[in-house]
Amino acid sequence: MTVRERTQCLEEQILSPYAAKSAASKGRQKPEEECPLRTCFQRDRDRIVHCKAFRRLKQKTQVFLSPEGDHYRTRLTHTVEVAQIARTIARALQLNEDLTEAIALGHDLGHTPFGHAGEYVLNKILPQGFHHYEQSVRVVQLLEEDGQGLNLTFEVLDGILNHKKGHTPQTQEGWVVQFSDRIAYMNHDIEDAIREGVLSADQLPPKVVQVLGNTKSERIKCLILDMVAHGVEQIGFSPKIEEQYLTLHRFMYQNVYVNPYAKKEESKVEKLLTELYEYFSANPEKMPWEYTEIYKKEGCERAVCDYIAGMSDEYAVRLFEKIFVPQKWDVF
Ligand code: MG
Repeated sequence: MTVRERTQCLEEQILSPYAAKSAASKGRQKPEEECPLRTCFQRDRDRIVHCKAFRRLKQKTQVFLSPEGDHYRTRLTHTVEVAQIARTIARALQLNEDLTEAIALGHDLGHTPFGHAGEYVLNKILPQGFHHYEQSVRVVQLLEEDGQGLNLTFEVLDGILNHKKGHTPQTQEGWVVQFSDRIAYMNHDIEDAIREGVLSADQLPPKVVQVLGNTKSERIKCLILDMVAHGVEQIGFSPKIEEQYLTLHRFMYQNVYVNPYAKKEESKVEKLLTELYEYFSANPEKMPWEYTEIYKKEGCERAVCDYIAGMSDEYAVRLFEKIFVPQKWDVF
């Protein structure tokens, strides 16, 4: 018996009947020989951690654009927080922790530079629209590994595609990540907004504080405990907690997500990305070769949007400067 086979037996013994068992995975688009050590979901998690798009998350905006402070979230630290919350819930509900972790670590790989402001710009450009959850799937299926993709399992792809609220993942693990994303971003956005000075802790709605808790730690704990108590059959919050979560979401929307101070740089994002788009549409041969290949197969809009979507905030700014800002003479 291999180590993987032993793990698969353990999954059968330990996990809930509602869990996705690795031995019963619907598999990969291109069949592969099994690993002697790791289940298919462990392998998917490892492929995501080792891919280039994962490393680029460290320089992508979460909510606050390119913050100088060391303690603001980036897309990478957000992803790690989602994975932590999701694994805690998955283990408590006896779900497949490896599958949960793989979905969580991959869920935002398709995010554009500059957060939702970047997504908004690309959505206007692409005729079929641009959504980060679809782009995350495109990254792992096509853009990584020089156009070969990571060949992930069906369950991980489904969880990544359907991590956004309102979507319907096919596994309980996918549902856990969808809710963990909501728990993570709400609480770290509050913390970052207080750090930025656009919010003070005493502004939070009193009923929300009373039910969910006064600190980030208390609120995350309350939301996780509620999900675990709600059970594995239908993943979610109890009605009482969901109501307070939604109140908090509305509050954050009004006070932070559209706050003119927090969003003051966003109009520049549209200008910067639109200029880059027009430049590379006119000069597609200036893109890295993997995108010129997409240009030949799928056309200009798709190729340039893939290129721009993959950029980190820093990369987009440096590229813009290189193309459009006069460079100083280097006299030495
Ligand atoms: Mg997310």
